[in-house]
Amino acid sequence: MLNAQNSFMIKLEENITEQNEKRFEMGKINRTYIYIIDTLKALFELGLIILLIYLIKNNVITVAIAVALFNYKSGIMTLVMQHISSYLELAKNFNISCDRVFSILDNKDFAKEKFGNEHLEDINGNFEFKNVTFGYNENKKVLDNINFKIHSGELVGFVGKSGVGKTTIFNLLCKMYSIQSGEILIENININELDEDSIRGNMTIISQNPYIFNLSIRDNLKLVKEDLTDEEMYNACKIACLDKFIEGLPNKYDTIVGEAGVILSGGQKQRLAIARAFVQKTKIILFDEATSSLDNETQSEIQKAISNLKNEYTILIIAHRLSTIVNCNKIMIVEEGKISDSGTHEELINRNCTYQVLCQTEMMK
Ligand code: ADP
Repeated sequence: MLNAQNSFMIKLEENITEQNEKRFEMGKINRTYIYIIDTLKALFELGLIILLIYLIKNNVITVAIAVALFNYKSGIMTLVMQHISSYLELAKNFNISCDRVFSILDNKDFAKEKFGNEHLEDINGNFEFKNVTFGYNENKKVLDNINFKIHSGELVGFVGKSGVGKTTIFNLLCKMYSIQSGEILIENININELDEDSIRGNMTIISQNPYIFNLSIRDNLKLVKEDLTDEEMYNACKIACLDKFIEGLPNKYDTIVGEAGVILSGGQKQRLAIARAFVQKTKIILFDEATSSLDNETQSEIQKAISNLKNEYTILIIAHRLSTIVNCNKIMIVEEGKISDSGTHEELINRNCTYQVLCQTEMMK
């Protein structure tokens, strides 16, 4: 559908060429070994012939014994050389495998996640970014000395153009990446000191494309809470406005949703992910444009549900549709790697040009 066959064929051809070049290099090394081994074998045979002639001349052995010895020894030599060459081949392959394994163990290929030892059982949902600077690579800062504080139970919206770093803020809060400078504090403790469970066990991200497993709806929810009761499951699906849809399915909550939730629409997948977050009941819930593929009616129902949770959970929402965040306690405007302004919808619409433009663009849609 992308009409991209040519690009894929070019990439395939590049890969085949690269593989052939590597194979040629290996062949060259192999031939060098064979050459060395054949030379050694020839030298050995020459030495043996000289020794046997010397022994015949001095009447130590007869010609017949010399011939028999020569055949026997050169046979053994061939065998020894063959073994040496196959061991060298094995050693070479072994080295290549070791290089690959060690480059993973030494974090050269993939950075290993590092966590601290401090454990927080239950958090209230307070956190702070203090002079945080971060870039995915050294040349380009995505967040530049960013500062903000979120209090427990707040509903906070993040707005800004695409690519300004909103999702990055969420990624850093979940410690998907380590920051270059500054501090991220959860309940006043530096995130680097907290163990994995204290960070990941206390927050949920509902992303634009949530991953739904090839299991039943019930089991997709049970993944995050093994002892999930039917009542909890019905409630979560009701809050996520998914209950009516599930009741209409032939096997209701036991319907298998297919690979990556193939039988569900984009909006239904998001609602199932929202239900999963409500089952998990983590103190911090992060919505990354999670309501973008919902129709207006479903979206407003979910907004109501989010508002109902307002004081119980700390909820952060990245939204393209500003209607999702007008009721937030605080809206942060992200621009050029910084929080350029923050306030309520009413405050920002009166004083902030970027926010006014975003609102106007939305009204024109
Ligand atoms: P937003 O959510 O505001 O649209 P993001 O936080 O997703 O923006 O991205 C901010 C910048 O970081 C963009 O320029 C994007 O291309 C870059 N970026 C995002 N994720 C990665 C990544 N995993 N590796 C490298 N660059 C990334």
